[in-house]
Amino acid sequence: MNTPTNPMTPATPVADATTGQAPEHAKHAAETWAARYAGAVMNTFGTPQLTLTGGHGCTLVDDEGKEYLDLLGGIAVNVLGQAHPAVVAAVTEQIHTLGHVSNYFATPPHIQLAERLLSIISTDETPEESRVFLANSGAEANECALKIVKAYGVSTGRTRILVLDHAFHGRTLGALSLTWKEAYRQPFAPLIPGIEFIPANDSDALRTAMNEDVAGFFVEPIQGEAGVHVLDDDYLRLARELTREHGALLVVDEVQCGIGRTGAWMGHHHSAITPDVVTLAKGLGGGLPIGACVAFGETASILGPGMHGTTFGGNPVCAAAAVAVLDTIESEGLIEHARDLGHWLRCALREAAPHMISEVRGRGLLIGIELTHDIAPQIVACARDAGFIVNATSAKVLRLAPPLILSQDEAASFVDAFPSMISQAQTMVSAERKDSK
Ligand SMILES: *Cc1c(COP(=O)(O)O)cnc(C)c1O
Repeated sequence: MNTPTNPMTPATPVADATTGQAPEHAKHAAETWAARYAGAVMNTFGTPQLTLTGGHGCTLVDDEGKEYLDLLGGIAVNVLGQAHPAVVAAVTEQIHTLGHVSNYFATPPHIQLAERLLSIISTDETPEESRVFLANSGAEANECALKIVKAYGVSTGRTRILVLDHAFHGRTLGALSLTWKEAYRQPFAPLIPGIEFIPANDSDALRTAMNEDVAGFFVEPIQGEAGVHVLDDDYLRLARELTREHGALLVVDEVQCGIGRTGAWMGHHHSAITPDVVTLAKGLGGGLPIGACVAFGETASILGPGMHGTTFGGNPVCAAAAVAVLDTIESEGLIEHARDLGHWLRCALREAAPHMISEVRGRGLLIGIELTHDIAPQIVACARDAGFIVNATSAKVLRLAPPLILSQDEAASFVDAFPSMISQAQTMVSAERKDSK
């Protein structure tokens, strides 16, 4: 067990996790981990900000024993924080009982999770024949959805797929084909043909683009990676109407905004639409890797035996964790909590630094803070020094996606510290400017 120390007191030496020996002092351990990371891990993410060695609830602990309030939640993943007893119990019991069997066999957690997902996503309009495919990540959930759309297109002679500008659907080549950012796409061109980007929240552009050649339309109810941009409820309803009218499939990517985060089980529940396909991942496993593609009605039988597969998908340990996550969200009233605390937090942040913030947006506990100046990365660094983990999606936008168990006091501690983080970041930017002159 970790014994967290107060960030204000000098760091206590911690044991080296692999050798079990206590290093001379913790600072040395930190340098050692950074050097070992650089020497062994592929450099796709740049230099890590910290090496983290422990956590409990919404608190993370680094290799020097310093504590941080986690307002990123492993990017909208740790809905129950770290080491939640319900997840620990579910995983522990399942790994003791049956760890992995492959999809040649059924297991109770796989079945229970599929049933549970259908029941939380369904509305009154959801068709009976809906089914779930379990995968291991958001990209894989979207690969499954894309294969459904492609197979539907091939069988009906539809060649076009619509996606929104600024969309993020993942990094595998199929999901990347649906992702907007040129820097992510360009090294791997050509990607899947027939995919067209249209501006979000633009009803006319959607009307113009939609016709009988469209096989499917992919949307995120909130574009998280793009900087937390919420799709209008009316726009989502129009998307449902037009796709239905023209016989195209509507795929809703709930990977980041699903599982209670927005103050509803699903981001699209706010607009009360029934999609053809919903994809999930991030928050679903409470920290364990899992994704899901949920297909409604006739869409659910487009992929037949042999058309898709995965070795790990439906893994009983991950599925058991996900069932525990869904049960706990319900029993602890975390959806209502996310809605109410998110509302309070957005208002409090606006008031905390009105001159430096141009907009605070989002729903529930998925929050984007747009700044008046390009200082978001510097605020991330200053926040870290002050003991808070936040994230910048661009030079101007901060993203918060904390565990749904975040308390009012924890949220308030961030709001209180926020103005001084901003002024420190401004000082930092001025110093950088002077240096570069
Ligand atoms: C993170 C994310 C993905 C990709 O999920 P991975 O698990 O990283 O593959 C897809 N769609 C959305 C909306 C996401 O936020």
